Amino acid sequence: LWRFWGPLSALSKVYSQLLSAMASAERIFEILDTEPEVTNSSKARELPTIRGEVVFDNVSFRYEPNKPDVLHNVSFRVQPGQRVALVGPTGAGKSTIVNLLMRFYDATGGTVRIDGMDVKEATLESLRKQMGIVLQDSFIFAGTVEDNLRYGNEGATDEQLVKAGESVRLDRVVAQLSHGYRTEVEERGSKLSVGQRQLLAFGRVLLSDPRILILDEATSSVDTETEQHIQEALQTLLAGRTAFIIAHRLSTIKDADLILVVENGRIAEQGSHEQLMEKGGIYANLVLTQLSMQESVILQTST
Ligand code: ADP
Repeated sequence: LWRFWGPLSALSKVYSQLLSAMASAERIFEILDTEPEVTNSSKARELPTIRGEVVFDNVSFRYEPNKPDVLHNVSFRVQPGQRVALVGPTGAGKSTIVNLLMRFYDATGGTVRIDGMDVKEATLESLRKQMGIVLQDSFIFAGTVEDNLRYGNEGATDEQLVKAGESVRLDRVVAQLSHGYRTEVEERGSKLSVGQRQLLAFGRVLLSDPRILILDEATSSVDTETEQHIQEALQTLLAGRTAFIIAHRLSTIKDADLILVVENGRIAEQGSHEQLMEKGGIYANLVLTQLSMQESVILQTST
């Protein structure tokens, strides 16, 4: 479903760089040296604890000074706790929008505001610690399951750890491991399936308790039971947080409070599923095409 709308390649590159850097302290400096794009401004302030309102106001962006803009006049408003689905073809600008929100880059024009504050005026640390991110291929580093969870919140008590594990259905996975939460996992996560790694990543983010969550919805197929656990865990994870989901499933997209249809660096359409269906534009056409494809599959398999 929505298969031609691929994963967040650009975001995933920056973020896995950041994550692997953070996993070993000395390498942080390496990354800071090689990633000078965004720094704290001299008058940067701490972003106070946010509610999670996000506003993009006429945002334009280009990655390099002499290249054309990849985002053009992007504007939208998200209330605290709302779910936003970003949809659009590969290269449309979805991960760039998220990159600007997390300030991996700064907007070339316009402003990105969180709870009314221009993100350029916030210190990077205060901004990023209030955001969580889960990519399709979750980063697991060598260490125990517990280490991987604590990475979200070093000061978490054992009780919080176990509770987070339960909330994201990781407990059943851990119960099958030889040493429970103390079981060693490897960097590429062998021992854990793709779906189990996803649950681990959910647990990590849940422990860090961010106000804003960024999620690249997985497209790889997992078994039905794991899939059900992932969907349940996801609902727990999303509850009460502003969420930006690079969505691939029609069900996720339909449930979103706001759908942003991104095409060629522009917001081609925005609204709820009902509003966009009513409008009868790009989104409605895509949905109808999907549905008729599904129907023909059902017809083929039932005959
Ligand atoms: P999507 O997430 O919708 O697939 P992206 O935001 O990754 O789209 O890409 C938008 C455009 O920006 C594309 O043309 C892509 O090639 C370009 N782009 C993405 N990341 C970079 C980068 N780090 N440097 C230069 N161009 C980039």
